[in-house]
Amino acid sequence: MDFQLSDEQRLIQETAKEFAAKEIYPVSAEHDEQAKWPEEIHKKAWELGLMNVTVPEACGGPGLGCLDNTLVTEQLSWGCVGIGAGIMLNALPTEVLLSGASDEQKKKYLGRLVDGEYAAYAVTEPCAGSDVAGIQTRAVKRGNEYVLNGSKIWISNANHASWFTVMAKTDPEDGHRGMSFFIVERDTPGLEVGKPIPKLGQKAGWTAEVFMDDVVVPESTLIGKEGEGFKIAMKTFDGSRPMVAAFALGLMQRCIDLSLEYALERKTFGVPIIEHQAIAHKIADMQIRMEGARLMAYQAACLADQGRRNTLQASCAKAYACDSVMWVATEAMQIYGGYGYSKEYPVEKLFRDAKVLQVYEGTSEIQRNIIARELASR
Ligand SMILES: Cc1cc2nc3c(=O)[nH]c(=O)nc-3n(C[C@H](O)[C@H](O)[C@H](O)COP(=O)(O)OP(=O)(O)OC[C@H]3O[C@@H](n4cnc5c(N)ncnc54)[C@H](O)[C@@H]3O)c2cc1C
Repeated sequence: MDFQLSDEQRLIQETAKEFAAKEIYPVSAEHDEQAKWPEEIHKKAWELGLMNVTVPEACGGPGLGCLDNTLVTEQLSWGCVGIGAGIMLNALPTEVLLSGASDEQKKKYLGRLVDGEYAAYAVTEPCAGSDVAGIQTRAVKRGNEYVLNGSKIWISNANHASWFTVMAKTDPEDGHRGMSFFIVERDTPGLEVGKPIPKLGQKAGWTAEVFMDDVVVPESTLIGKEGEGFKIAMKTFDGSRPMVAAFALGLMQRCIDLSLEYALERKTFGVPIIEHQAIAHKIADMQIRMEGARLMAYQAACLADQGRRNTLQASCAKAYACDSVMWVATEAMQIYGGYGYSKEYPVEKLFRDAKVLQVYEGTSEIQRNIIARELASR
């Protein structure tokens, strides 16, 4: 087994790291405080080629893989996971198209992302998050068109998206086999995007509701065949969960860096607190968690790149990294003592940013359901 990255991978990792250090971290607190959309940073990331890395060459992209995407995501999230997520999340609708769209659809829509557009993945609804098959949005066939009605919630990058991959029920009687994905243009009459939802953390990444009232789309916007929506969504997660694990990796690394720095400086009882074994062991345990999570995420990504089924590994990586980051951020707060609780110090932001990682892209509980199901079906 070879744990070496290629020269090309090291280069893109280094580029993302420098970008995070120079362009993201210095302004991350300000963007968090003001819940400000980092327009300029996104533009620079796009110019540097750090966005849309998985768009195939045939569609005008660099055609890099899941591991490359994971490496970039990890570094940008070390700068700020809210900003990093906003930059990377075109990868979700990209993965939907790569999992089920025609070559014509891929070329047209992924090409637009490469040209600088955003897209968003619209599945969750007020009544259904974990229970994807419980969605209520309906797509009714009328001649050579579909009419969509329903609403979506928590849609990341919706405020800036030019198009959405929308999951809707085409056959409400047929459970998860009755769902389909559509590409819906932002400017279609009847589609409205709400204001950004105020949230605890990752405030520089925006999420919003999407409302559809008699939204008419041509049948050419159906991705794959009718009824393939659930299958495409699950395939999408296999490709995207290593990326979400990488959000956690970057955040963990930042927690470790800050904790180490503080523990070397802060003195109690006449010595730097790192000389108290209780504190030193906390930092060691943080590193152990991060190293384990990193191996899992990279493994899940490599399997995806080899075209092998990685559902089990992607869910293990997502659950372990995202549970670990919450634990690591809590320990970082503890190492900072009272100052950890202060907005004048950086770790309270990391603590707030960490929490949602256990929720989106399938909660930690849902990952465990998937892992157990995968094991039971062997
Ligand atoms: C910041 C943010 C960004 C998001 N971005 C997007 C996006 O871009 N696109 C999108 O479509 N969605 C997005 N989501 C939605 C996200 O995927 C859902 O919030 C998540 O899947 C959980 O769904 P829910 O909130 O409805 O919780 P519920 O499904 O109602 O779950 C509530 C609780 O019950 C637990 N639970 C539910 N069912 C089970 C079960 N069978 N076994 C064990 N425990 C269970 C859950 O783990 C959770 O703890 C985002 C959410 C947030 C907060």
